[in-house]
Amino acid sequence: MQTYLVGGAVRDELLGLKVKDRDWVVVGATPEQMLARGFTQVGSDFPVFLHPKTHEEYALARTERKQGHGYHGFSVYSAPDVTLEEDLLRRDLTINAMARSEQGELSDPFDGRKDLEARELRHVSMAFKEDPLRILRTARFAARFQPLGFRVCAETMELMRSMVAEGEVEHLVPERVWQEIQRALHENNPATFFQVLRDCGALAVLIPELSPEAHFSAAIAGLQRVHASNGSTAERFASLLCALDEPAGTARAKALKAPNDCQQLARLTMIFTPAIQQLDPLQPDAGVLLKLLEKADLWRRPERFAQLLNVLACTLEPANRAKLEALQNAAKVASTVDPKILMEQGFLGKELGDAIRTERLARINQALSSLLS
Ligand code: ATP
Repeated sequence: MQTYLVGGAVRDELLGLKVKDRDWVVVGATPEQMLARGFTQVGSDFPVFLHPKTHEEYALARTERKQGHGYHGFSVYSAPDVTLEEDLLRRDLTINAMARSEQGELSDPFDGRKDLEARELRHVSMAFKEDPLRILRTARFAARFQPLGFRVCAETMELMRSMVAEGEVEHLVPERVWQEIQRALHENNPATFFQVLRDCGALAVLIPELSPEAHFSAAIAGLQRVHASNGSTAERFASLLCALDEPAGTARAKALKAPNDCQQLARLTMIFTPAIQQLDPLQPDAGVLLKLLEKADLWRRPERFAQLLNVLACTLEPANRAKLEALQNAAKVASTVDPKILMEQGFLGKELGDAIRTERLARINQALSSLLS
């Protein structure tokens, strides 16, 4: 029985990066032997075990063969006679297909180290075609390592294009796509993820609404600014959809099965973007501003409103960004209306709602006129 450190840990160690998770491969063992050594089995699809003390993952060496479309339909073969090289062969990229023995010896049958030095993301074998998720993973590694000068090599880009052309990407389930998008949004250079997906044609399948050049460049510019502002996942996702028509963008966010907070912030961004663009810069309409604040449900969801303002500040073009101040001011003065005081004055039910609204409107108008004078 031999144990090897594999995948990301070996890659990151060679790159001089901090190693986060360590994954291990065990060659020459049976599940029974692992259980006898105190490991616990996790998951039922693959023979993966948790170390009794470190809780790190130890997988028995395995081979995989594709029988269906998308991620489904893999048949897994795991037995003590599966070699380390066979296990490494099923991996996505050469830089992820290296192993280090407990004695410190590097196994690198696919020249991953050479590709690390050349800064190339290269598929290990034609088996790459068997799982379209690898396209998204490759784009994500491109986004992560872009600052180090990594690029998808020409052969891998060609292979990814052929996979897209063969319709493989259409078979991916939304949950797995979203998981990759969500991770990619927090990589070192998230824009690169979408650029790579666009270059190989996968973006036109996954988020076709971003295909027009104007929408794509608006998405990338906004995303880069939100990234620089250290925005949340919801803010990053909303910036991506900022230039889309609200119904189409909302439907896409739903189809991607983005979490509710991401869907809602994206929807508000798509509603607010044209509304802000249409505001008169010299004389914004108080009624319109109040309606927007109500639409955003400012008084019940103040944190989400703050997120929305950040997304808009990052995505609107400079001329329209100035108008955001009017909205921000309106939010500030309208929030000084205290419903309790109005209740003490005897307003109740629908009348209370009307009185709050009238008072908020009056304060926004007042603030706007003092701004003008
Ligand atoms: P990260 O730093 O994001 O954790 P990682 O390389 O450790 O990067 P994991 O998703 O933890 O990525 O996967 C561990 C290893 O398993 C990878 O390095 C790769 O060798 C292999 N792997 C994971 N998913 C796939 C896949 N879909 N196809 C082929 N190999 C994969």
